[in-house]
Amino acid sequence: MLQPIILRLALPVPLRRYFDYLIPEGIDTSALIPGVRVRVPFQSRTLVGVLLEVVNESSVPLSKLKPALEVLDTESLFPEDIFKLCRWAAEYYHYSLGEVLSNAMPGELRKGKSTSIKLKSPIISNASDVVPELNAAQQFAVNTIADAKNKFNVFLLDGVTGSGKTEVYLRAIQDCLTHGKQVLMLVPEISLTPQTIDRFRARFKEHIVALHSNFSELERLRGWITAKSGQAKIVIGTRSAIFTPFANLGLIIVDEEHDTSFKQQDRFRYHARDLAIMRASVNQIPIVLGSATPSLESLLNAKRKRYKYLTLPERAGAAQLPRYQLVDLRQSTVEEGLSTPLLQLMREHLAANNQVMLYLNRRGFAPVFYCGECHWIVGCKRCDTRMVYHRKPPRLHCHQCDAKQSIPKKCSECGGENLNPVGLGTQRLEETLAAYFPDVPIIRVDRDNTRRKGAMQDLITQIHSQEKAILLGTQMLAKGHHFPQVTLVGIVDGDSGLFSADFRAVEQMGQLLVQVSGRAGRAEKRGTVVIQTRQPDHMLLQTLIHRGYNEFAETLLAEREAAMLPPFSYFAVFRAEAYAEDNAQHFLNTLKNICTTTSKAITVLGPVPAMLAKRKGLYCQQLLVRSDKRSALQQFLKNILQQMEESSKQSVKWVLDVDPVEVG
Ligand code: ADP
Ligand code: ZN
Ligand code: ZN
Repeated sequence: MLQPIILRLALPVPLRRYFDYLIPEGIDTSALIPGVRVRVPFQSRTLVGVLLEVVNESSVPLSKLKPALEVLDTESLFPEDIFKLCRWAAEYYHYSLGEVLSNAMPGELRKGKSTSIKLKSPIISNASDVVPELNAAQQFAVNTIADAKNKFNVFLLDGVTGSGKTEVYLRAIQDCLTHGKQVLMLVPEISLTPQTIDRFRARFKEHIVALHSNFSELERLRGWITAKSGQAKIVIGTRSAIFTPFANLGLIIVDEEHDTSFKQQDRFRYHARDLAIMRASVNQIPIVLGSATPSLESLLNAKRKRYKYLTLPERAGAAQLPRYQLVDLRQSTVEEGLSTPLLQLMREHLAANNQVMLYLNRRGFAPVFYCGECHWIVGCKRCDTRMVYHRKPPRLHCHQCDAKQSIPKKCSECGGENLNPVGLGTQRLEETLAAYFPDVPIIRVDRDNTRRKGAMQDLITQIHSQEKAILLGTQMLAKGHHFPQVTLVGIVDGDSGLFSADFRAVEQMGQLLVQVSGRAGRAEKRGTVVIQTRQPDHMLLQTLIHRGYNEFAETLLAEREAAMLPPFSYFAVFRAEAYAEDNAQHFLNTLKNICTTTSKAITVLGPVPAMLAKRKGLYCQQLLVRSDKRSALQQFLKNILQQMEESSKQSVKWVLDVDPVEVG
């Protein structure tokens, strides 16, 4: 028999194939197990790849193979389930396995650093056990999840905000720990706050690891190591934590499963919730998807009985759901974005020493800078967007490409000097509020004032330490936090989202409105939510506020079914970018021609300019591929990509996005 001499590797490069290298001299061949990292020369660089197998034949002549440089590990970095998950993901998202595996490692390991580092002793607090008694719905959910141990089961936990979903997670986790297993909980980026971690530390006297993309590389590596060895019992993390190895995983929880931050929007475009379900299936363990506003995808799966549906219909304890009030902006006096009825309510709630929260998803001072003489609007030179006017510090800023410029004194079209900021951003609203309510603390939360590490935390602490106050912010403020003093929530612009080109925008608007409203009256005090709108009769808005999210979602599902949109069909998008508009279009047209001749089960739409047609000087076009069957779409994409890879070099940068969350 031939002596195996060739290392077959997955390398972190876009090419979707394997690479063969010779075994370096003097290597102990018993260390050559799949899953160890190997450093190799590649073109003019060195790369860290992952060993897939040792073989004795290659399609490349032996004389052309280069020797690998070194083997970096003595044991596999990837337990069998992660390997399976990565292989599945590479196939499903049509992405290079080498890149997927590289993504699955902490940054330090990607660079080739050693896994033997000094670990810190874990923070284990004295768990207090103030544990509330569960209500019947919670108890039922906990029991059902506990009964499904050691089996693959997907539970959709649909519970209104404040209904005690987290309490259900905590009990399910407790049960899992009692059986000696580990738990992975995924949360949206915005909600992995020290408060979340504290709540877990207060409950469990266990080694808990938090993994967030903002944490240092070293911290993340430590978390990874302790989860793999079994020392860490609970891992709470954002999207990429789905790739954490565990010694003995028993349960996965995905909180706020509808949140779009679970989908990676660049390079390897995976959906962490969908991978989590795959992982639970590989491991044959239960997974709980929780939300007050489940995605239409998950609701449909529950209706089709693929997921087990668990519901918490009422708020836990004494808290009540808020009442809604619509303000017709066409009929009311409005100054600087605030209507008289909203101002009046704000005065009342502040007079009672409560907090008011205003939601406006537009940072900066004003979205438009405008010439009153010739109606010219300052746009970004590199993007198809308008420059946003910022006052502190004064500048025009492109929120797409980050370009900044000083504020022009004269119109560059007509030379006129009558230039004005138009429209409302959070900074302008802050100034207006300060004039209306000079004695009330105003706390603004948006990306401009939370960049510094710890800044968000400071603002949250400030909010908790105040009595009356006005909180004002973008979705950074609206999602996931618990502010018991807030009794009034004002949605300053309730119409954004109703008329977007993206078919998912309405779903997301509904989710956000409910999430924002969920901030009101979480404690003993009942909350009020005011929505300012020019469309008070809009059917979906009416359904949402009078009948609740579930009926709203039913209506949307019926619309999607009629239009054969996801989740009733499956999408993939090819996006092409080029400095010349024609090139991107031409590339996609060529692709379209290949597509239309290949399969009947497929519909191809486009190419059309993307919602943001130009960004950083690049024109972006997209081609939408749709099928009623997931498997047909997958087979089709596989064929097409193979053909594309075999054809000549492409001058255009392109990506494929499977199950895109944005298709404008
Ligand atoms: P959700 O995760 O659904 O928003 P939480 O689990 O955070 O809800 O619960 C909201 C509040 O209600 C928390 O302060 C929590 O401690 C409390 N709570 C949860 N379950 C109960 C219960 N059964 N009885 C009393 N209070 C509860
Ligand atoms: Zn002008
Ligand atoms: Zn720009």
